[in-house]
Amino acid sequence: MKILAFESSCDETAVAVVEDGRTVLSDAIASQADLHALYGGVVPEIASRKHVEAIAALTEQALREAGCTKQDIDAVAVTYAPGLIGAVLVGLSFAKSVAFALGVPLIPVHHIRGHIAANYLAFPDLEPPFLALAISGGNTLIVDVRDYTDMVILGATRDDAAGECFDKAARVLGLPYPGGAPLDALAQQSPGGVYTLPHAHVDGAELDMSFSGLKTAVVNLAHHAQQVGEPLDRAALARDFAQAVSDTLVPRAMEAARQTGRKILCAAGGVAANSIIRGDLQRACDQAGVRLYLPPLKLCGDNGAMIGAQGYYEYLAGHTAGMDLNAYATRDIAD
Ligand code: ATP
Ligand code: MG
Ligand code: FE
Repeated sequence: MKILAFESSCDETAVAVVEDGRTVLSDAIASQADLHALYGGVVPEIASRKHVEAIAALTEQALREAGCTKQDIDAVAVTYAPGLIGAVLVGLSFAKSVAFALGVPLIPVHHIRGHIAANYLAFPDLEPPFLALAISGGNTLIVDVRDYTDMVILGATRDDAAGECFDKAARVLGLPYPGGAPLDALAQQSPGGVYTLPHAHVDGAELDMSFSGLKTAVVNLAHHAQQVGEPLDRAALARDFAQAVSDTLVPRAMEAARQTGRKILCAAGGVAANSIIRGDLQRACDQAGVRLYLPPLKLCGDNGAMIGAQGYYEYLAGHTAGMDLNAYATRDIAD
């Protein structure tokens, strides 16, 4: 079954063709990151307009690269939530029109379910049940993936997402948007151990997380150094910051594995590209006898293929939608 998949929830327009949820036939992406970098973050109105400009040509490209015609497409999958509402609506409206014109089913896909499904593309042998650590620009979740479309949230951030925190820390370190990858590179230049940063715990909810205090601490450190003219060891601060994020995420993921007895952990989302988090996860999983799946960097960030992968399993579960399908800025992954 060939699924044409659309993703437009943030600042990547992406269209892919995926076969049977596992094989990527094409994965076309147009990133707007350079444009938003001028403003230090995503400007929603600009994102929506750029999606409109890119999506038709990108669809042609995805079909061409997959060696398909429109008539070969069996279903259309699309991110319907969560994300910037105007941005999601562009992909959703386009996907609806394609599904309607071709007379094929329309499959709504939750963006974070898509991030998790990126693992199905990278690891053909992977099947639920497993735990997922979904860490991205707007979400930070520990999810029990009981089945392809049956998910339970075990832990979540109470405030900022890990990626948001990376982007803000990168900004005060003078790094370009999106700052996660440049901060990761800077952190590798220092062994750290210079700055003491807060590690928050949520009382009575040991799998929940909080990143806003850490974010504020980094901002205050950088601003203070600037104000009093003290030198700032940027690489050390980047390192200590990334380590603090990892120290928040990794023990909780392992605790979730302990509590559930799951022996498989998958990482997902843009922040899963982080080298310190990947290394710490690998060590912790080796020690605990948990099998770790780390998607290649290309599949961590937003892409269309992951929507096609999850779309296949949503379709098998009977989750298709009519032309009245709406977009949602927020939506629980378990819904
Ligand atoms: P969401 O998926 O929650 O809707 P999003 O789609 O914007 O948000 P992703 O595309 O999954 O998020 O990930 C983008 C985030 O990943 C950004 O915050 C970016 O800085 C971060 N990121 C990318 N590479 C790295 C890295 N090597 N280390 C840390 N963070 C990274
Ligand atoms: Mg992006
Ligand atoms: Fe994302």
